Amino acid sequence: MTGTLYVVGFGPGHEDHITDRAKKALKDSDYVIGYKTYMELVAPLIEGKEVISTGMSEEVSRAQAAVKQAERGKTVSVISSGDAGVYGMAGLVYEVLAEQGWNRKTGIKVEIIPGISAINSCASLLGAPIMHDACTISLSDHLTPWELIERRIDAAGAADFVIALYNPKSGRRTKQIEEAQRILLKYRSPETPVGLVKSAYRDREEVTMTTLSEMLDHDIGMLTTVIIGNSTTFFYDGLMITPRGYTRKYTLTEENQPLRPHERLRPENEPWALHGGQSESAETKKPLQELGLKALAAVEKQKNAPPEVKSIFEAAVSPGVVNKHFSPQQLIALSEAAGEQGTIEYTPHHYVILKTEVSDPAPIINKLREAGLDLAPVGDVVTIKACDFCNGEKSDAIPYTEQLREDLGGMSVPKELRIGVNGCGMACYGAVNEDIGIVYRKGAFDLFLGAKVVSRTAHPGVYVAEGIAPDKVVPMLTRIVEEYKESGHPNERFFKYFKRVGVVEGFEHRETPVPDVEPMPCGE
Ligand code: SAH
Repeated sequence: MTGTLYVVGFGPGHEDHITDRAKKALKDSDYVIGYKTYMELVAPLIEGKEVISTGMSEEVSRAQAAVKQAERGKTVSVISSGDAGVYGMAGLVYEVLAEQGWNRKTGIKVEIIPGISAINSCASLLGAPIMHDACTISLSDHLTPWELIERRIDAAGAADFVIALYNPKSGRRTKQIEEAQRILLKYRSPETPVGLVKSAYRDREEVTMTTLSEMLDHDIGMLTTVIIGNSTTFFYDGLMITPRGYTRKYTLTEENQPLRPHERLRPENEPWALHGGQSESAETKKPLQELGLKALAAVEKQKNAPPEVKSIFEAAVSPGVVNKHFSPQQLIALSEAAGEQGTIEYTPHHYVILKTEVSDPAPIINKLREAGLDLAPVGDVVTIKACDFCNGEKSDAIPYTEQLREDLGGMSVPKELRIGVNGCGMACYGAVNEDIGIVYRKGAFDLFLGAKVVSRTAHPGVYVAEGIAPDKVVPMLTRIVEEYKESGHPNERFFKYFKRVGVVEGFEHRETPVPDVEPMPCGE
């Protein structure tokens, strides 16, 4: 008769974080075997069981006792905190079994029941410090040569892994954490965020946010896990956060990704990937092995060099809101900014979009501005699109245009929003076909709201008002944009918003007749 051996990870310590499978295994067991302190943590779940609790360094005898009882036909649980497969009992149980020639077919039944490891439970209390490639390193040199641990810390530091240090310090082992700090400071800034979590989800839980240089000023002990951020980890409102990716995409106003979700994974938008930003080219079709070797060579070359965090800088560039002429010097500045790898795109809306990979966008921004170029963010922001005011001859509306650009240009909104300004009743730059259009005529402005800019059912904006006094127009548009920013649904274009709410700034929505065509999603 053969029994069953469960190796159970019971998570950080609170019953809420023990899986149902683990609870059931404990319930079904005749024997529960583990380290004394852990027995206390799971006491309510093991009432009435045969309990074998041993001291901390008696793992081998625990594993042997468990195997022995299972071989007698009993159901036995060996418990580990966190996950039993992470510096826990799982490997040891298999080692004892392998030693005596056990096999899966005829031997006792073994099931490893996963639990929440300290790296996960502690991370959840800190915020989101793991997020990217991370590793665990145990600083305990009882069973592992210190030289090897040192090499692992060094390698993880050089490769910019987020690092969770287990067993960081005990009464007698106090130097290891100091050594770890010294090694990591070779690769990381002293300001690197560090989170210390003691007794996660247990009675005496403590969470401390500190930095790589100051972490030793705090209490670190046997029940602490030390989480060290990578080069991009930051603190925000008492939380420790590692961004999901390295390469951010800059716009001028914010650092989040201006690309829509379906655009983000296109090869040209990921120049940092192994494919180098090329779609299915001859290059990427080369045998994988060759590519792998290339990547390896690159890694070898960069070994020990701190990783450079590159970002995509993207901006709409123009000679001004009013001026429509680029000077040759400006075009030179633009092409220098793009460099060998960048792109300059001419869009359907008369914008030139510069996109280039940089580690710091500031010098490019300064250079383009020095050349007299106007830079505007790209994405879901307000853009002011004006006519040339007949090359400046019909100049009355120019100050209001510039004021709008100053006040509203670049503001984030639920969906890109273009405000068209035309300086005379000819409206030859098509202000009535923008999300919001104003046309200066006889000393005052006409207002058009909610054009549908694209598609075969495109239509002009609703003509909602005429003769708005010039000094009233900027505050009025500001109120409209702010209302839309506040109440528009994410990704809801202004025309849809206007239709949904029915009234904006006291102006009523009216249906615009559109041709009766079947709507087509993009790409069909
Ligand atoms: N098997 C366990 C790890 C055991 S090694 C797991 O997967 O989590 C013991 C180390 O784990 C401790 O020194 C500490 O660094 C970490 N640890 C375990 N439980 C913890 C908890 N509740 N809070 C903080 N750290 C913990």
